[in-house]
Amino acid sequence: MPELPEVETVRRTLEPRILGRQVAVACLRRKDICEPLAGSKRTPEHMLQGSTIVGTMRHGKQLAIYADHGQVVCVHLGMSGVLSWTTSLPKFTAADHAHAWWRFDDGSAMVFADPRRFGGLWLAPDLPTLRREKWGTLGIDGLMVYGHALHREAGQSERNVKAALLDQKVVAGVGNIYADEALFASGIAPTRACLTLSEADWDRLAASIRRVLGDAIEAGGSTLRDYRDANGAKGSHQTRHAVYGRGGEACLTCRGVLTQATLGQRTTVWCKQCQK
Ligand SMILES: [Zn+2]
Repeated sequence: MPELPEVETVRRTLEPRILGRQVAVACLRRKDICEPLAGSKRTPEHMLQGSTIVGTMRHGKQLAIYADHGQVVCVHLGMSGVLSWTTSLPKFTAADHAHAWWRFDDGSAMVFADPRRFGGLWLAPDLPTLRREKWGTLGIDGLMVYGHALHREAGQSERNVKAALLDQKVVAGVGNIYADEALFASGIAPTRACLTLSEADWDRLAASIRRVLGDAIEAGGSTLRDYRDANGAKGSHQTRHAVYGRGGEACLTCRGVLTQATLGQRTTVWCKQCQK
């Protein structure tokens, strides 16, 4: 599932392709993947048709594309969503699962495809509406998180710290991969109850989250299955995971066997020697 680094990589590879381009035609092929927020409708105009793209923005795992007339299209990739740019509009078959597309004034196109349909689009009349109606419930973005924010949002909780990191209201953009990686990097066991973490623990964890996410962005994200950037390229960070997907293998630090268990309903891998 794409997490913050994958969505940020899509944003960085997409933006130079579409900035300043006018949307000639916008097409929603599956209505049920698109939700209009206050004041928007599922019309081509609200999907940016006739407008010029002036910017992109990301909060957590969500990507916004906004135009000169104010309208915004917000994309969530879900489990298997791909937002790609192509030099011309392809001829789609049902197997492409292309649910929406935008053709630009130079003939190039942006396509949203999502076979498993856990992702989707939201339309908003302007960025403040998107922030209020869609992003208002999200915690601080993972790239900007700091210990005080984690402590404030989760510090009194009895649940384990892994579950707290997966909660998008605590910190936005961290999923299963980077939660495990950040906990390993900070030496904190995922099973620890949040209220047992000290302020220094939260500070160390926040710094690890920022560093792990930043490193993953530098590597173009992690491609485990479907994820591609806007140009169709895979990420390479999956080759650098210290714990994620390595249950039963040797810890890179102490050579002990990595533990794997289900925590917060997700497979979790950690080192009982290195993480306390
Ligand atoms: Zn270890």
